[in-house]
Amino acid sequence: MKKPNIVILGAGYGGMITATRLSKLLGHNEANITLVNKHDYHYQTTWLHEPAAGTLSPERTRMPIGSVLDLNKIKFVQDIVVEIKAADKKVVLEDGELEYDYLVVGLGSEAETFGVPGVHEYAFSKWTVNGAREVKEHIEYMFAKYNNTAEKKDELLTFVVAGAGFTGIEFIGELSDRVPELCEHYDIPREKVKLYVIEAAPTALPGFDPELVEYAMNLLESRGVEFKINCPIKEVTETGVSLANGDEIKAETVVWATGVRGSSIIEKSGFEAMRGRIKVEPDLRAPGYEDVFVIGDCALLINEEINRPYPPTAQIAMQMAEVCAHNIKALIKNDPLKTFKPDIKGTVASLGGKEAIGVVGTRKLFGSSANFMKKMIDNRYLFLLGGPGLVLKKGKSPF
Ligand code: FAD
Repeated sequence: MKKPNIVILGAGYGGMITATRLSKLLGHNEANITLVNKHDYHYQTTWLHEPAAGTLSPERTRMPIGSVLDLNKIKFVQDIVVEIKAADKKVVLEDGELEYDYLVVGLGSEAETFGVPGVHEYAFSKWTVNGAREVKEHIEYMFAKYNNTAEKKDELLTFVVAGAGFTGIEFIGELSDRVPELCEHYDIPREKVKLYVIEAAPTALPGFDPELVEYAMNLLESRGVEFKINCPIKEVTETGVSLANGDEIKAETVVWATGVRGSSIIEKSGFEAMRGRIKVEPDLRAPGYEDVFVIGDCALLINEEINRPYPPTAQIAMQMAEVCAHNIKALIKNDPLKTFKPDIKGTVASLGGKEAIGVVGTRKLFGSSANFMKKMIDNRYLFLLGGPGLVLKKGKSPF
């Protein structure tokens, strides 16, 4: 019998865990497993606010794919996915084509602009290793430029973060923690630096416990962050942001963090999608496609308790990957498929330095205990992916 071809698109949280699990569940002669990714490295998206603000080296957030996956069992193809031709069971790459019997789509997300003009042109919106490098270099350049311009333009030192959700808050947490060091390094008085977080919703960190939100906002305000809540951005321009209330903030740096939509490849390939995400069946297959699994940020899953989608998180991407790998094996072996049910263990957001907030189980955590938990969560992922060796090599000290 012909060995089935399993093709996994994207080496993020979902793709990497699916690949490792499948390579353990299926023997060499049972299937061909191919992983396709843009880069020859895997990166932890959940850490990217740190290199973007310059508080962690980008090298710490990434690892060569070959250093964590067994490339004798998994064929790795470095290429860019252009389109999925599901009717022909083919994936079109920039540099060729792949045929599959089972496909796993784990291509992650792209910035959601909500139709606000100017985001792609004037804001930093790429949460990738290269995107984070660009933001960090730009911020440092703004500080370096300030004392070298004839007029000391305030907008050089005005930093706007669009979105007070998880990503925006984690980024401003890192940046506000680093500002005193940058000021000292570039001979700039601290009061010259303006940090804004602008949020359209009526609260920062929507969905978080109000006591935790208050803790986070008080802490960030004590570091000089100004929040503009309930304040939609109308446009991002060359000179800053225009707000729906008619105000303008002149800023040379706008970081976009208002949430994500699924990969544009999904819509381009003709799948029915909502904001680029496919509403998956309980077994994680795309409706109408027996052989296409969709995981992570590309998958839309409704939380029946509140009748709203689960937020796209690494936690869910990894759990989906486990079930996806099990279900592909089950299809190959004619066994029953599992239904996916997220097991949300908690959520912890870092606030820079040794500060964080979060909920684990039913316990609310603040400050250093939340920070400890955040580092443990980061290390747990490394453990699941590459065992204790990877934690020792790439892990974070929880203290
Ligand atoms: P990703 O991990 O984004 O991986 C997608 C992969 O596909 C990437 O390797 C990418 O290079 C590749 N790819 C994309 N397009 C192509 C293409 N066309 N061709 C080839 N390869 C391609 N979640 C949490 O649970 N906890 C957190 O604390 C948390 N913090 C976050 C902090 C930040 C700053 C950000 C930005 C996100 C955070 N998230 C967090 C969300 C989390 O990172 C995502 O939900 C998670 O990365 C989704 O995993 P994924 O496997 O779907 O996609």
